[in-house]
Amino acid sequence: MTIHGAVFGVAFTLAAAASATELTPLAPKFGPHHSPAVGTEAGLWMVSKQSEEVIQTSPRRLRDPHVEAYLHEVICRLTPDYCGDIRVYLVRMPYFNASMLPNGVMQVWSGLLLRVENEDQLASVLGHELGHFLRQHSLEQFESVKNKATLITIFTLGLGGAVAAGGISSGVAQSASVSSKIAMIGSVMAYGRGHESEADRFGLQLIAKAGYDPLAAARVWQNILDEDAASGDPKKSRSAFLASHPSPENRIADLRRASAALTTQGEKKAPSVSGRYYAVVARVLPTCFLDEVNLNQPGRSEFLFKRLLAAGFAPGLVNFYLGEIERRRSAGKLSDSARAYYEASVAEHDPPADSYRELGLWHLKAKQWDLARARLQEYLAAAPQANDRKMVDYYLQLVESHP
Ligand SMILES: [Zn+2]
Repeated sequence: MTIHGAVFGVAFTLAAAASATELTPLAPKFGPHHSPAVGTEAGLWMVSKQSEEVIQTSPRRLRDPHVEAYLHEVICRLTPDYCGDIRVYLVRMPYFNASMLPNGVMQVWSGLLLRVENEDQLASVLGHELGHFLRQHSLEQFESVKNKATLITIFTLGLGGAVAAGGISSGVAQSASVSSKIAMIGSVMAYGRGHESEADRFGLQLIAKAGYDPLAAARVWQNILDEDAASGDPKKSRSAFLASHPSPENRIADLRRASAALTTQGEKKAPSVSGRYYAVVARVLPTCFLDEVNLNQPGRSEFLFKRLLAAGFAPGLVNFYLGEIERRRSAGKLSDSARAYYEASVAEHDPPADSYRELGLWHLKAKQWDLARARLQEYLAAAPQANDRKMVDYYLQLVESHP
């Protein structure tokens, strides 16, 4: 038995186990080029516009036009009709998160890029957020809250502060305050279970229609759980995304069941594009690695980096950052495991110059003068313009004083 979705023209196969309601295609609640209705919706859009300005001009925005254009391209593939109504911003926040404002503004946090493994998984997260957007969950949420005054206060207080700081001259304190505002913009609307499962369903519809693998959605959630388990203290450090997206275990089961039941028919399966994911985000991943290591959550970071290594992404770079985790873990002592990762890094075709420097410093500490000299010289050869050149020259003099 098949049901043909009037709006999307997708045919869904109903598996015996899934209920008819569960698989009835959902339609967007508004058409393309929508203007907000006078009243609550117009008010939400006005506040959202202010939020967009905060995000747009924030020093926290990771201004990489290629990656932002790529995110937009995936969005367009998921919702071609609404593509022109949606703006997407990449924000430098080292956590797994994405969110949408009612006026079509999506923010994607840089930490998400480390946590999806291919374009199918990325599309499943974006599809979920598009589900909230196209089903107008924020408007419904807003209208269902009894004490609207409180909600408006939370919303505008957060934004007022953000807009005030949005004159942004930069500076660490301001940057921190802006990032907390950005976080607030993303979390003001934490949805209930009904909205979450509807966004999951809608997201699955979108990714299947676009030719992505519907099972990727369940995979993303499983990855988040695995990462939390690897962090060593899962309860304390649950991902930010989990705070606003409850019951991951149930969700994974639901998503698996729905994606198994959902097979597109009459749709030409789009060619797999998974391979290009790392090719595009490689531009910003070094920043993501650095931010991740700086969070000082070694178990979690190690889990993420080893997954990237297994995927074959930039082994020279990933091994360097695995070495950095070990170096920090050893708190100043000579770490053999750090050294092993740096050695693995320089054995690859793409080592960052920093791997040579860390090896040089390691040997210097171990009083292995010849090895220290060789590695520090390799560092300067690989990074002739290095900021710390003077310091490294000084170390080299130190080496020469030890015959
Ligand atoms: Zn959600």
